[in-house]
Parts: sequence; structure tokens; C-alpha cells
Amino acid sequence: MTKIKAIRGMNDILPDQTPVWQYLEATIKRVVSAYGYSEIRMPIVEQTDLFKRSIGEVTDIVEKEMYTFDDRNGESLTLRPEGTACCVRAGEEHGLLYNQTQRFWYQGPMFRYEKPQKGRYRQFHQVGVEAFGMAGPDVDAELILLTAALWRELGMSDAVTLQLNSLGSNQARAEYRDALVAYLKEHFDQLDEDSQRRLESNPLRVLDSKNEATRVVLEKAPILTDYLDEESANDFRQLCEMLDAAGVHYEVNPYLVRGLDYYCKTVFEWVTEELGAQGTVCAGGRYDGLVQQLGGKPTTAVGFAMGIERLILLLETLGLVPESARQTFDLYLAAEHKGIQSDVVLLAEQLRAAVPGLRVRVHCAGLKNIATKARQTGAQAIVLVKKTEDGGLKGSLWCHDETEYDLQPEPLAERLRMLFDN
Ligand code: ATP
Ligand code: MG
Repeated sequence: MTKIKAIRGMNDILPDQTPVWQYLEATIKRVVSAYGYSEIRMPIVEQTDLFKRSIGEVTDIVEKEMYTFDDRNGESLTLRPEGTACCVRAGEEHGLLYNQTQRFWYQGPMFRYEKPQKGRYRQFHQVGVEAFGMAGPDVDAELILLTAALWRELGMSDAVTLQLNSLGSNQARAEYRDALVAYLKEHFDQLDEDSQRRLESNPLRVLDSKNEATRVVLEKAPILTDYLDEESANDFRQLCEMLDAAGVHYEVNPYLVRGLDYYCKTVFEWVTEELGAQGTVCAGGRYDGLVQQLGGKPTTAVGFAMGIERLILLLETLGLVPESARQTFDLYLAAEHKGIQSDVVLLAEQLRAAVPGLRVRVHCAGLKNIATKARQTGAQAIVLVKKTEDGGLKGSLWCHDETEYDLQPEPLAERLRMLFDN
């Protein structure tokens, strides 16, 4: 019989990988907490219209990447391709947005029907951060500083650069759009096929094109910066000043437009050159119009999402995962001879109780070559237990330094406490 396999582009994260995930997730959690953000958890499935109305009908995601199906009631549902729309839906539904300020973060799987490759999967994971009800560039700066703090914590500041742009108000962008379309129409024949199509449906996306000929045309195209409304220009200047003052470097990239419809004013991306074509590890911006677009009262908002798989690839590529993060247990406990396995299980219980936080793995299989087997686990410390003549237990503790201590059961807990700093 053929064996059933996982779905293409949807990966198992195996036990040798999960410690790295947990390390990254714990670091992210620490950083978002330091900025006063609260976690929100949304369902993975939403009504299809939520994404159609928010992300935009003529975006890659809605046009060709969504996992959409009818449920048994004939209602069209979609596996969430991103979290912002879900977060706005949840915030609105529970009355958390109007006339309030909120700071949320979320994490979890997202689904997009894309061509699977390194750094691009069909089920992938994002951590997203969204701030509502704050209109000024200070909160834009806060979000960017938060990401910069995360890269510092992870030791990857040198590997990522910040790209920044302002899309301006909706009106300013509309004026720019007209100017861009007029210019591109004059050069229609030089554009690649995708760009020709986008010229009708979503002309700003042409700025994203990687095609050589199109890029040449774009060099002389009108530039978004020249069309900014005064408020957007002011906010953008202030944002840049705050980043300068905080020592966060950035490149202003007038071609940065982001693929989703709902952005306005500040947009940004953190990119790396270490991961080939999938170089964007974190992306976001302001989306003041989205809450209203989804039926709520006007509410300003700004946020970003980062791709966990890409961050993990980056950590691994740069060798930035601390060895300690890979360790899933501290102590390996084994019987040296038959007849005392149940004593060992009980001793492990006593040690767990006596040394809070100590991670003990008990050997429950055959005892042949037990010392070698125990070492092969990579444990930091090993205790091999034997029975003394008077019926008590005796153990030898090996640590990674190869020193051997003879131990009585009672002082063992004390030693371990010192050893693992608990
Ligand atoms: P890209 O241009 O790489 O397709 P995107 O603009 O579609 O990215 P966003 O919707 O902004 O991506 O999502 C935010 C982040 O989520 C991305 O910067 C990336 O790190 C990650 N991401 C997006 N799509 C995928 C995917 N299919 N697989 C893995 N990570 C992804
Ligand atoms: Mg994409």
C-alpha cells in the first residue's frame, strides 16, 4: 500500500527543529512583552469575504493563493493567508477598536497556494504585531524599534536592512497612480507581461517588478515621494528623525509599495541577502482605512508580520542558534543494572520535585552499554544508578566535563541545583 504523505509545501517540524522554533518564539515573546503588546488568538478559518474585502481582489493572494472551500452548509471559507484582516475582524467584533488604543500580537500558521521553495511554503508561520487607534509616526517608530530590538536579541542586526517608504494618503496615492499609469502607458511595449496586466488592475505593483526591461522603464517613472500629501510627508520626516535618534539605519526605497491593497503612509520591510530570492523576513505598514473598509468606524492602525521559517533559516545560516537552545533536557538518568528500574523512575520524580525546572529524561530501554548510550544522548549530565549492599541507591554523576563524582542520593539534588543554577 502506498503511504500517505504530507501535503506539498506543508512541513512537519521535527523534534530536532522544535528547540530552535521555541528559542525564536520565546525571544519574540520577550520582546513584544517589553513593548507592552498583548497576545490575541484568532481562528485559522474565516469567511472568504473577509480576505477579499481587505487584501483586495486584484492581489496575488486573493487572485491565486487562497485555500478556499465550501463547508457543509455551502458557506465559502478560507484558511487564513495572513493575520491582519483576522485581527481587525476580531477587534471589531468584540468592540476593542473604536475610540481606543490597542496593541496586539499573534502567531500561528498561514496558508497560501504558492510554488514551494526555500523560504516559501504553503503552510508557513507568522508572528504579527498590530497597533490600533494611534495616528502618529511615534507608534510607527515604536514598531520598527521593536523589530530592531528583536534582531539585536537574536544577534542578526548586521544581516538585515530596513527599507522604508511612505505611500501617502489615499488621495495622494490616487493622483500618483494616475501619473504612473499615464507614464507606463507610453512605454507599454517595454513592460513585461505581468506588469502590462497589472497596469490595468494594480499599477503600483509594477514598481515591484524584478524584470530588467521594466526596471529600466521605471528609472524615469514619476516617483511616489513627489506626490506625498503634506501630512504624510511630515509624518514620514518625523519617523525618519526618530529612527535616526535611536540609531536605526534605513534606506528610503520609493519603489517599496507592498502587495496588499490596504496600506497607506508608512510601509517598511526588513530584508536580508542571505536567503536568495525569499529575502523579506518582516514587512508591514500603516493601514488607516482597513477597519472602516471592513465595516467599522474609522480607526487608524499600523502593523507588521514576520515569517518565522525565514527567520529560522537565517538563524541557522548564520549559526546564531545558541547550543543551549538545542538542549531539550538536562539530566539523563539510567539504571546501571537490572532490578532497579522502578527505583530510578522514582528517583527521577524526587529530583524533579527537589530541583524545580530540572529537565530529567529517564532511560527506559535495555541496559547493555548503558554508559555509552547515555553519553550519545548529548545530555549535559548523566547519573548512572546502582544499588548498594545495604539496599540504598548510589549514583555516579558525569558532566560534560567528563569529571566523575560519586554521589549519595541525598546530596545529588543539591549538586544538580548548583549545576543547573536552579
Ligand atoms: P513575498 O514577497 O516574499 O511573497 P509577501 O509580501 O507576500 O512576501 P507578506 O504578506 O507581507 O509577504 O507576509 C509577511 C512575511 O511573511 C513575509 O515577509 C515573509 O517573511 C513571510 N511569508 C510570506 N509568504 C510566505 C510563504 N509562502 N512562506 C514562508 N514565509 C512567507
Ligand atoms: Mg507573497
